[in-house]
Amino acid sequence: MAKMDAIIVGGGHNGLVAAAYLAKAGLKVLVLERRPIVGGACVTEEIHPGFRASTLAYTCGLFRPEIKADLDLVSFGLEEHPYDPSQFLPFPDRRFLLFRNDLAWNEKQIARFSGKDANAWAKYVRFWDEFGELVEPTLLAPPVSLADLASLVRTPEAEDFLRRIMLMSISDLLDDFFESEEVKASLATSAVAGTMAGPRTPGTAFVLGHHTLTEVGGLKGAWGWMRGGMGAISDAIARAARAFGAEIRTTSTVRRILVRKGRAVGVELADGTTVEGTAVLSNADPKRTLLGLVGEENLPPEFARAVARIRFESSSFKLNLALRELPDFNAIPGTTAQPHHKTIIDIAPSMDYLERAYDDAKRGRPSRDPFLEFAIESANDPTAAPPGMHTLTISAKFAPFDLAAGTWDTEADKFAERILDVLELYAPNIRRATIAMGSRSPLDMEREYGLTRGDVFHGAILPYQMFSFRPVPGWSSYRMPVKGLYLCGAGAHPGGGVIGAAGHNAAQAVLEDWQQLKAA
Ligand SMILES: Cc1cc2nc3c(=O)[nH]c(=O)nc-3n(C[C@H](O)[C@H](O)[C@H](O)COP(=O)(O)OP(=O)(O)OC[C@H]3O[C@@H](n4cnc5c(N)ncnc54)[C@H](O)[C@@H]3O)c2cc1C
Repeated sequence: MAKMDAIIVGGGHNGLVAAAYLAKAGLKVLVLERRPIVGGACVTEEIHPGFRASTLAYTCGLFRPEIKADLDLVSFGLEEHPYDPSQFLPFPDRRFLLFRNDLAWNEKQIARFSGKDANAWAKYVRFWDEFGELVEPTLLAPPVSLADLASLVRTPEAEDFLRRIMLMSISDLLDDFFESEEVKASLATSAVAGTMAGPRTPGTAFVLGHHTLTEVGGLKGAWGWMRGGMGAISDAIARAARAFGAEIRTTSTVRRILVRKGRAVGVELADGTTVEGTAVLSNADPKRTLLGLVGEENLPPEFARAVARIRFESSSFKLNLALRELPDFNAIPGTTAQPHHKTIIDIAPSMDYLERAYDDAKRGRPSRDPFLEFAIESANDPTAAPPGMHTLTISAKFAPFDLAAGTWDTEADKFAERILDVLELYAPNIRRATIAMGSRSPLDMEREYGLTRGDVFHGAILPYQMFSFRPVPGWSSYRMPVKGLYLCGAGAHPGGGVIGAAGHNAAQAVLEDWQQLKAA
C-alpha cells in the first residue's frame, strides 16, 4: 500500500476527529480500527433483535461545539437534544428530585428538601459557571502548566477558588453550600462518574467540574441525547472524515507501531501486513499505545516507568435491557411515558450510600448497593426500540477491575441480578418488563473495546493526572518521545468523555510539525 501521510490507530470518536481535521487539511489519512464498527466507547449496538442501545457511553454534552461547527457534523447526521427534564432522582421514601435546565424550577424542587439549600442554589450555579469560564478556554489547545494556571491567581478569593476546585472532595465542597443529603447526593453523582473514588476522596470536586463543561443545542451546562444513540456521534464524524478524503478500515488490528532510529515509520497489522506513514497517531490509551504497540525498548526508561504508573481503574459496569414496558417508579407511578422517563435517572439516595458503594469496590467487591445511573433512550429516540417497547441502559458505578473473589466471567451475571434487585426497590415492575439483557463488565470493556483495565477515561481524571500531567508530566503536547508519534485519545489533555478535543488538538500538533516531518 502507498505510504500514508498520517495513520491513525483506532477509530474511537477522538481518532475520527483527528482523521477529519487532517484529511480536511489535505493529508492522506488512514484510520485502522480493530472492531467491526467505529466509535470505541461511543457506539450504538443491537442488544436484542430490534433494540439498539448506547452500550458504553450513554449521554452527550461534552463534545466541543467548535468541532461540530468546523466539521459541519449536523450535515453529516448529528442530531442532539438537551434532556428536559435534566435529571431525576427517586428516593426510597417515594420523594424525588426532578431537575430542569431552569434556575427557578430547581430552587422550588430543592426547597421541598431544604429551604436553606434552595437559597444557596444560585450561588452554587455561579461557582461552576466561574469554573467553566476558567477551564473551558483551555480545552481546544495544549494544556496550560500548573505554573501558568497559578499565575492567574492574584487575589485571596481566586486562590481559595483554585483550592476548592483542585484539592477538595465533592463532599467537603457540597457541605459549604448545602445541608440536605438528597440534594448533596444528587449533585455528587457527576463527581464520581467514571472515577474509582468516593465522594470523600480529594480531587472529586474537579471531576464534577469536568462534567459541567457541557453544551447541547446551544444550552450551556446541559446534557442530552442523540438520535440514533451515542454511536450516531461517531458515525457523523466518520462520514465527515470520509467526505474530506480519509480512508477508514474496520476489523483492522494494529499489532505494532514500527519504530526506526527513534522515529515512528508506520504500523504492522495483525495479519502481518505493514503500512508506512509519515505520522502515526494513536487513539488507543497511553498504556496500550506506549507499553504495548511501541514497546518499552523504544522508549526512554524513565518515561516508560511513568506510563506504567498512570492510574488506570475501571469504575463502570453496563447493563443494557430490552423492555416491554417503561419502568413504573414508586415515586411517580405509571408506565406511559412521562417527563421523568426522558432524562438521566440516578439511584444515589445519600452521600453515605455513595461512599459505601465505593468502599466495597476499593476492597475488590462489586458494590452491594450500587450507585446506578441510567437512561431510557427509547423514551426520547424512536430508533432505539420497536414501537411501544423500550431500552434501558444502566451504568452501575464502582465495579473494580480486580476482584477479591472470582473473575468478571463468573461474577457479571450475579452483579447484574444485584443491579435489578436495587432497581426493583424503586421500580418494582423492572424484572417483569425485561425481555432481554446483556452486560459489559470492566473485563469485557478491556477485551472487546480495548479499554485497558476497563478505564472509561484512558486514565483517571483526578486533578493530578490532568492538564500538563496528562498522560505523564512533561509529555502533554500530544507528541511522544518517539518522533512522529502522537497520542490523540482520552489519555491526553483534556481527558475522558466524548469531547473530541484530544483528537482535535493532536491533529493541530501534527499540522504544526508537518513541514519538519515531511523533511525528515
Ligand atoms: C461504560 C462507559 C460509560 C461512559 N459514559 C459516558 C457518557 O455517558 N458520556 C461521555 O461523554 N463519556 C462517557 N464515557 C467516556 C467516553 O466514552 C470515553 O472517554 C471516550 O469515548 C474515549 O474516546 P476515545 O476516542 O479517546 O477512545 P476510545 O473510544 O477508547 O477509542 C479507542 C479506539 O481504539 C481502538 N483500538 C485500540 N487498540 C487498537 C489497535 N491495536 N488497533 C486498532 N484499533 C485499536 C479501539 O477499538 C477503540 O475503537 C463512558 C465510557 C464508558 C466505557
